[in-house]
Amino acid sequence: MTSSIADNLKNIWEQINQAAIRRGRQPDGIKLVAVVKNIPIPKILEAIEAGVKNLGESKVQDARKKFEELPKNVIWHFIGHLQTNKVKYIVKFVDLIHSVDSIKLAQEINRQAEKENKVQKVLVQVNVSGEETKFGVPADQVFHFLKEAVKLRHIAIKGLMTIAPLIEDPEKIRLVFVGLRGLAKKVSQAHIKGAEMKYLSMGMTNDFRIAVEEGSNLVRIGSGIFRHAG
Ligand SMILES: *Cc1c(COP(=O)(O)O)cnc(C)c1O
Repeated sequence: MTSSIADNLKNIWEQINQAAIRRGRQPDGIKLVAVVKNIPIPKILEAIEAGVKNLGESKVQDARKKFEELPKNVIWHFIGHLQTNKVKYIVKFVDLIHSVDSIKLAQEINRQAEKENKVQKVLVQVNVSGEETKFGVPADQVFHFLKEAVKLRHIAIKGLMTIAPLIEDPEKIRLVFVGLRGLAKKVSQAHIKGAEMKYLSMGMTNDFRIAVEEGSNLVRIGSGIFRHAG
């Protein structure tokens, strides 16, 4: 069965709204980042036409190319693992970098942002579960990381991001999101100057309903938007 990108988006927004309402949250503050990795330009244009304003990429090369080719009235998010030597290519146009996971990377973003005369908004990617080998600052090192990162004048910390492990058990996935929310709350309560906990970036196609139930206000959805869209 085929459905259009507009249908998929409508469906996803309905589910976001329902998940928020289930927990007595206002859906208004929730943003949807359409993840466009491996998606051809015409399909992305279709999504923009259907109301998408925030685009996410995880590869530097592809992000640059798509930025050049797409209309300039969209907001770019970088969500993938970022190597320090590639920072210079994306700071020019990316609104929010979700995947800052080392001081070395934060320092390089700071350096490039200074060159561009901007303050780069970033999220700290956190490895909540400690399972698997993947990127992210271990949860117990986030405070230490923030203490160093807030010294950098050309980055602005706007929240936390996590990727849930690829597991079936929804209750285990939920624990990861609850963990990130709890950590953001602790950071907020510590009143660290320069570390604003405005965004919780969590939830992808398979787990965004749980993420929204647990407080996500920035969901990153790719395949759910673009699949079966012929
Ligand atoms: C690919 C990707 C997504 C979107 O994943 P889907 O399962 O296609 O929704 C979200 N976040 C990150 C970091 C990704 O790399």
